[in-house]
Amino acid sequence: MNTLDPTHLQTFIAGQWRDASGPTYATEYPHDGSTVATLNAATTDDVNDAVLAAEKARMKPDWAHLKPHERAAMLHRIAAGIRGRSEELAQLQRLDNGKPIKETRALVASAAGTFQFFAAACETHEDAITPSRGDFVTMSVHEPLGVVGAITPWNSPIASEAQKLAPALAAGCAVVFKPAEITPRMAIELARIAQQAGVPDGIISVLPGKGSIVGDALVQHPLVKRIAFTGGTKVGMGIASIGAEKLMPTSLELGGKSPTIVCADADLDHAVAGVLYGIFSSSGESCIAGSRAFVHASVYDEFKSRLLEGVKKLRVGDPVLDSTQMGPLVSQSHRVTVEEYVQLGIDEGAKVLFGGVRPIGTTFDKGSYYTPTVMEGLNNSARMCQEEIFGPVLVLLPWSEEADLIAQCNDNVYGLAAGIWTRDYKTVWRLGRALQTGTVWVNTYKVFSASTPFGGVKMSGTGREKGRLGILEYTTQKSYYWGLNEAPMPWSNS
Ligand code: NAD
Repeated sequence: MNTLDPTHLQTFIAGQWRDASGPTYATEYPHDGSTVATLNAATTDDVNDAVLAAEKARMKPDWAHLKPHERAAMLHRIAAGIRGRSEELAQLQRLDNGKPIKETRALVASAAGTFQFFAAACETHEDAITPSRGDFVTMSVHEPLGVVGAITPWNSPIASEAQKLAPALAAGCAVVFKPAEITPRMAIELARIAQQAGVPDGIISVLPGKGSIVGDALVQHPLVKRIAFTGGTKVGMGIASIGAEKLMPTSLELGGKSPTIVCADADLDHAVAGVLYGIFSSSGESCIAGSRAFVHASVYDEFKSRLLEGVKKLRVGDPVLDSTQMGPLVSQSHRVTVEEYVQLGIDEGAKVLFGGVRPIGTTFDKGSYYTPTVMEGLNNSARMCQEEIFGPVLVLLPWSEEADLIAQCNDNVYGLAAGIWTRDYKTVWRLGRALQTGTVWVNTYKVFSASTPFGGVKMSGTGREKGRLGILEYTTQKSYYWGLNEAPMPWSNS
């Protein structure tokens, strides 16, 4: 139930709490379609105001001259600010995208952890005195890139926003956010928490609204020196192309169609639990959803029957309940997309083993719910196995020969993540090295640490977020040569 009255949200632009200048729109709670908040969309003028203010603010001594330990202290205060409001933030994010409260609590905790991690990385980051080849001292130092445009999707707002904001602030950049139109709340709250933590006005702005207007203007703006993007591959490609024209670095965290491999020797209890979690948590609205399960032919029937037992027991329901494992999809229109994919799979020859329908009951009447769905009988070349669905749909595929398995796993434009379930460490090493992905989970799935870089290969993106060196993505290097000559340089003959 939406326990809040619809709120009118102001946003933070160029150091001022105000309405953006565009038309008013409403965000909806996916559980029942009720209005959560109204707010104004930003315009290209707002983008310009935010970027100019960011450029000005980042040059001011109160930001530019902060010592690393002072910057780190600010990041710690942001982490504390998030923790101080953790339950409220988790509830607000639940209302924004309908994720179960247990998941949104975990996302809020992870966001706080990201700020804490980058505080440590900021305080301990070292520049280098490099080996000199003459009568001079050589140094390489990192400097902030400038104003960063951070563009995020709707599926895990506070976590993806923290992954951009924390390293960018640690590096000394200013950040202009363009959150997904339907989930603006977490970016706005992060800006509020950062302001309370002492981040100077202008350093962070939040511009809600349409990607094709606000996002595009942000990417195109000449003073924006880097784009940190998480979202779909098609949009990411457009951003990369504009980035190329501006010679602007972009990091792109894009889509996926991740394979999970169940080997003949796998602990099936663990594998079933991991595959269920990998695809059905977050209702499959996850870039790393393990949507293709390759199961060894010798254990296929056993695995399938245990998996179907597990799917039947999944608790689909109201995201406010602690017990809920799968909430609604983010919107009615997204549910239609998922339904169209399931129909496509059927047309391509799939057998639906479970789900493939909207759940029935009063809980589900008004929301965009969909049942967890399991299919088999498809070839990996089917569109169903090639395209990202971003919903709770799993395809089971049997395999026998390892070389053929690897070829099928890699036969996809995406390369975000993979899972391997086996008891044999040599199999892990062989498969792990052969899989074309940015992450390999072994006997686990969809677990994360702020200390471990994350990102994709192939059409899943470029660049890495998180990890100690994540700060460097927001910096450029400057080299110094400090002359030690007692006499003028000999070439001048003076
Ligand atoms: P999307 O690409 O439609 O939108 C992402 C963001 O980009 C939104 O803020 C949107 O408004 C903005 N945008 C849209 N058009 C734009 C343009 N022309 N210029 C600039 N910005 C623009 O994606 P979505 O539907 O919000 O999210 C789902 C996608 O995100 C999936 O493909 C999913 O795999 C991907 N994703 C990837 C990761 C990752 O880390 N790899 C994580 C989460 C989601």
